[in-house]
Amino acid sequence: MAVRASIMASEIPLASPEWALEEEQALLAVLRSGRWSFGEQLPAFEGELAALIGTTAAVATNSGTMALQIALEALGIGAGAEVITPAYTFVGSVNAILGAGASPVLVDVDATDLNISPAAIEAAIGPRTRAILPVHLFGRPAPMAPILELAQRHQLAVIEDACEAIGARWQGRAVGSLGDLGAVAFYPNKPVATGEGGALLGNDPELLLRCRQLRNQGFDPDSGSRLQDLPGHSARLSEFHAALGRVQLLRLQASLLRRRALAEAYRQRLAGDERLQLPAPVAAGDEIAWFTYPIRLQRALAPRRDAVIAGLRALGIGCNVYFPPVHQLPFHRDRHRCLDLAVTEDAGSRCLALPLFPAMSEEQVNRVCAELLRLLKGR
Ligand SMILES: *Cc1c(COP(=O)(O)O)cnc(C)c1O
Repeated sequence: MAVRASIMASEIPLASPEWALEEEQALLAVLRSGRWSFGEQLPAFEGELAALIGTTAAVATNSGTMALQIALEALGIGAGAEVITPAYTFVGSVNAILGAGASPVLVDVDATDLNISPAAIEAAIGPRTRAILPVHLFGRPAPMAPILELAQRHQLAVIEDACEAIGARWQGRAVGSLGDLGAVAFYPNKPVATGEGGALLGNDPELLLRCRQLRNQGFDPDSGSRLQDLPGHSARLSEFHAALGRVQLLRLQASLLRRRALAEAYRQRLAGDERLQLPAPVAAGDEIAWFTYPIRLQRALAPRRDAVIAGLRALGIGCNVYFPPVHQLPFHRDRHRCLDLAVTEDAGSRCLALPLFPAMSEEQVNRVCAELLRLLKGR
């Protein structure tokens, strides 16, 4: 059976999961087994995921945000602690810090690659700083060498938000395996999709045990051990999700290759147009796991960005602001310690994400580009 994607013929969604007979069979097998939680799929999925990323183990959770929150809690980072993270990210990164009871400190990103700026991290480190939470934004590895160096020098934990970046590589090593703990996510717009879900990755057995306890009301059924200092959560991943995830993991390499080819098709079609700023070239030795095709309009066109998005959507082309800066969102405004966020605010005013998913065709890339350029011409 051909791989399917949930797309209407005339529409080009921003992202779309893929599945085939294998996913259908996997789900049906779990259904018929009657074992819908804590069966054999969960540990198998966790083992296969850990092998893929290159950590000793994985702990699957019900979302990527919850994986990040559990990571912070497992590391003992809560009330009174500050966690440094970029302001230019999906809000889940920051909500996880708040969920753990810690205080986010929002710092700026690099103007070229839009990942967290090491200089900004260094400027933000203070007496209450306990952790750095870098985000591998849009599947592009964050600058881990200076981040790990700063963490070591100041004795800070590093929790990688690799929720958009499963399969990306920093200097040959999989992101999510580089810090104390890493988190990935399985929402349907991510390259490995289970509907909802996430996972923690790490190498420290005690830390991983705490993660397993935290995701299940403080209790780890395998070891029969209980947490003393925290209540834990109801944040398990079901057998259905785990079974689906196992099949999706097998599609990841092909998905990443296809995503890279589509990003290259976009680049060829749009490069040289002075109205657009395309994603920066990948750093030598790194590999991007492409997540949408994120571009910035020329500054003069920023006032028209929202109209361009509306125009594309009216044509059935998925498009979105990825991402509105966290410190400008209603709940978060004026609530967190922020450093200078000039690059974040500039990017937030003119960024937009274009469709990118494995079943997308080159013709569809051409159509998105043609409509985008047409909308930019009009006024
Ligand atoms: C998707 C994502 C998450 C996690 O999202 P969930 O919906 O909670 O799984 C976290 N951080 C970033 C940057 C993301 O893109």
